Amino acid sequence: MNNLLEKYEIVIGLEVHAQLQTQTKIFTADSTEYGGAPNTHISVITLAHPGTLPRVSREVIEYAVKMGLACGSSITPYNVFARKNYFYPDLPKGYQVTQDKDPICVGGKVSFKLKNGELHHIRLHHIHLEEDAGKSLHTNDSDDTLLDYNRAGVPLIEIVSEPDMRSSEEAYYYMQEIQRIVRYLDICDGNMEEGSLRCDANVSVRLRGASQLGTRVEIKNMNSFRFLQKAIDYEAQRQMELIEKDEKAQIIQETRTFDPNTGKTYGMRVKESMNDYRYFPEPDLTPVVISESWLAQIKAQMPTLPWEWQQKLKNQYGLSEYDAGVLTDSRQVVEFFAAVCQFTTQFKAVANWINGEIKAYLNDKSLEMSQLPISAQQLADLIELIAQNQVSNSVASQKILPQLLNEPHRGALEIAQTYNWLLENNANALQQAVNEVVAQFPDKVKEYQKGKKGLQGMFMGEIMKKTQGKADPKLANQLLIKALAEA
Ligand code: ADP
Ligand code: MG
Repeated sequence: MNNLLEKYEIVIGLEVHAQLQTQTKIFTADSTEYGGAPNTHISVITLAHPGTLPRVSREVIEYAVKMGLACGSSITPYNVFARKNYFYPDLPKGYQVTQDKDPICVGGKVSFKLKNGELHHIRLHHIHLEEDAGKSLHTNDSDDTLLDYNRAGVPLIEIVSEPDMRSSEEAYYYMQEIQRIVRYLDICDGNMEEGSLRCDANVSVRLRGASQLGTRVEIKNMNSFRFLQKAIDYEAQRQMELIEKDEKAQIIQETRTFDPNTGKTYGMRVKESMNDYRYFPEPDLTPVVISESWLAQIKAQMPTLPWEWQQKLKNQYGLSEYDAGVLTDSRQVVEFFAAVCQFTTQFKAVANWINGEIKAYLNDKSLEMSQLPISAQQLADLIELIAQNQVSNSVASQKILPQLLNEPHRGALEIAQTYNWLLENNANALQQAVNEVVAQFPDKVKEYQKGKKGLQGMFMGEIMKKTQGKADPKLANQLLIKALAEA
């Protein structure tokens, strides 16, 4: 691959479908919920019975506009839907209602960092609204194909990029960023296994320096980040090898499918570039006008977006680029961070606790941030106990936090008191422990005095043992140095 990549450049454009998690379908009140018994989320409108009339859901429009606003697209004020006519059993109407000439969002971009930290921008061509099709089910014990129309009419946005990506890694991070944005906006659950987020990858190759794009193939319906990357790599390699073998004519504009079992792509059908979908404006739907005031209302509902949070975390909370990046992976996490910071100014410590102990706990229990048993205030209180030198960091993380998670109705201080986990910072009591340790190891004291300063750690260890880890380390250290000098 590497040799060929010096000669050729890979060009990728993605068409990403995101199912909008609105309460209802795009043109009816049917449920959009995933996983219902087959054909239970349907009505005469979904099934396109004669005489029924669809109506556009306002919520669907608002979700699509939010995505456009997040990507800096311009929002189309006058939206006409179109019929895309084709026959397929999973399409109950015999046509799909989509947008043809004037998509709801035009232009814009998606920005993200690669693994090496490089910032990339991918331009969007447009985002349009359409309805999903149903599902064909092929069973083993029958020659019949079964049809489930629950998904028919579920709203989708299709986010179409310009052919701006140059590697499978870039496609991977682009897709991840789209997932993060739809989740922040709370318009799609971003679940690739269940197919609520999926994509088609258009892939071509060309000689480096060439100005024209090569012939592309479209790999359909990838539902995992890993498969997306593998499919692109395989397909690009296949195309480069064909050109090398002087068989360029075999690269045709076609639709291919990726088989995860073989890691290869296979031709499905020649791209219907000439296929006539007989698009025409949907006569049953009135155009949707997005007025200035409606647009302003939607703008006012926009949440703080990941890159806005990152700026805030760096400027307002003094966090590093790295911490800001990790905390903004998910909206729930960063919002919890901000909530904790309302009760303490130990911002860096809060970031460490959330990225460390809290995430480890959630992972371990397979919980979401919203299911964390303790409140922002409780975590802040614990962090304050450390800052005020009332408990040690290790006792806080190894003892108090687990106990707090078990007994979330109690406070951090109460728990520390109950279990006797507060630091011993009574100078008299500590002095006694220090004196005992110094008296216990006269030989070591001599070695120390002769210059073996490394022994200090061993003395501290003994003091900690004596105090069951509760000695205030700073104070103990001061007392120890003094005692060793005077011994
Ligand atoms: P269609 O609607 O027929 O699928 P479009 O021209 O709208 O075709 O392109 C669909 C996607 O293919 C876009 O994301 C675009 O960036 C990408 N694309 C177009 N030409 C190429 C090419 N030569 N190589 C890779 N991707 C391409
Ligand atoms: Mg396409």
